[in-house]
Amino acid sequence: MAKNSKTFSFEFFPPKTDSGLENLTSLAQKLETVPAEYFSVTFGAGGSTQQGTLDTCKSLFDSTKVPVAPHISGIGSNKESIALALQAYKEYGFKRLVVLRGDLPSGYGSKGDFPYAIHLIEFIQNKFDNYFDIEVGAYPETHPEAKSPEDDLKYFCDKFSAGAKGAVTQFFFDADVYFRFVENCAKLGVEQPITPGIMPIMSKDGLMRMARNCGAKVPSTLIDKLEKFDTEDDLKKFGVEYIASLTQTLLDNGAPGIHFYTINQLNPTNQIINLID
Ligand SMILES: Cc1cc2nc3c(=O)[nH]c(=O)nc-3n(C[C@H](O)[C@H](O)[C@H](O)COP(=O)(O)OP(=O)(O)OC[C@H]3O[C@@H](n4cnc5c(N)ncnc54)[C@H](O)[C@@H]3O)c2cc1C
Repeated sequence: MAKNSKTFSFEFFPPKTDSGLENLTSLAQKLETVPAEYFSVTFGAGGSTQQGTLDTCKSLFDSTKVPVAPHISGIGSNKESIALALQAYKEYGFKRLVVLRGDLPSGYGSKGDFPYAIHLIEFIQNKFDNYFDIEVGAYPETHPEAKSPEDDLKYFCDKFSAGAKGAVTQFFFDADVYFRFVENCAKLGVEQPITPGIMPIMSKDGLMRMARNCGAKVPSTLIDKLEKFDTEDDLKKFGVEYIASLTQTLLDNGAPGIHFYTINQLNPTNQIINLID
């Protein structure tokens, strides 16, 4: 159990099978004992895992006391289908949402009614009369499609003007990058919490693949270290210590909490939390 008074949130993706959902639910019950602020569940762009997101959120809601925040992404969707998904979230009692643009699956034609996250935020606020508490995505190392870091920062800050209450970052490995980003946002008037998103290290190839997909920089010193381990167990042990140290630095220097990308596994997230003061 973490001794830090700051809270943690945990992100899951919808399992593909009933037994996967049962396993995830019992995993969430174990994380419930940590001061978990909320559990969040990802949503496929174009609605590809819409039902899976709802089913997973319901299962977590029914089986734990932790608030559940479904994600919703707008790209490739129309207003009718998004309104239906939101209505279902509201009827089940979910109040917090993680609102994203999403990435169009390859071969998917139209951007639909919500080309950027801000359009979806504005739609949600209008249609549901500010009912939902909205978290948004943040990119301390700049979103890979951004025209410039300045543009990206401006568009990010606009999401707060549209009603977002907080943000969760893409994962990163350099605490200074996060603190610089928070400082730049503050200069543009952002006072809402920006929570670091933390990705545990499970394997070198997996880490490099995920980092490539979302534009996160992996320090060369970290890559060098990951190449040196003979066994998977040694690499995982190092990964836990490395990420625990990053997490500790973030918390000690003012991060409002930590959002863990759990990849639907109890460890290494739980092991990292156990190392934090
Ligand atoms: C915490 C977190 C959770 C996530 N969960 C999911 C999920 O569940 N499902 C999913 O599909 N994806 C998810 N993603 C991935 C996310 O959808 C993608 O990274 C996506 O590419 C960007 O989403 P965004 O909401 O930040 O987009 P936006 O804020 O819309 O920004 C996307 C890009 O467009 C630019 N931009 C923004 N507004 C404008 C504008 N008005 N005009 C011109 N350019 C603009 C920005 O600079 C940026 O380059 C998640 C990401 C994070 C950080």
